[in-house]
Amino acid sequence: MASDGDTVFGKILRGEIPCDQVYGDDLCIAFRDGQPQAPVHLLVIPREPIPQLADATDAHQQLLGHLLLVAARVAKLEGLQSWRTVINSGAEAGQTVFHLHVHVIGGRPLAWPPG
Ligand code: AMP
Repeated sequence: MASDGDTVFGKILRGEIPCDQVYGDDLCIAFRDGQPQAPVHLLVIPREPIPQLADATDAHQQLLGHLLLVAARVAKLEGLQSWRTVINSGAEAGQTVFHLHVHVIGGRPLAWPPG
């Protein structure tokens, strides 16, 4: 599924609304979630507006790997030794913003399974 990038994360990428950015490079940015679910809650988003993981293709293999490496990098920059990475794909999985993003959540004990 193509996307015109007209989501709240597209607006953040275009500088139309602010975010608390902690990392950025040519492929992605990372910023603090506006409604943190833990002491550390970051979002890593690609600059390319892929709506959800289900829309990723083989052409995105390198990008997807990069997002996970950046997730680990920013988690460690935040001082975390343990954390959870989450990618919700689809509304029933809890996705609310249809611009692919990796949650990085940590700083407290995390239960499993998730709700
Ligand atoms: P998901 O439910 O997986 O789609 O996650 C979307 C996340 O984006 C939620 O955790 C929201 O709190 C977060 N979010 C939505 N709008 C903003 C915003 N303007 N700045 C920071 N985080 C946001």
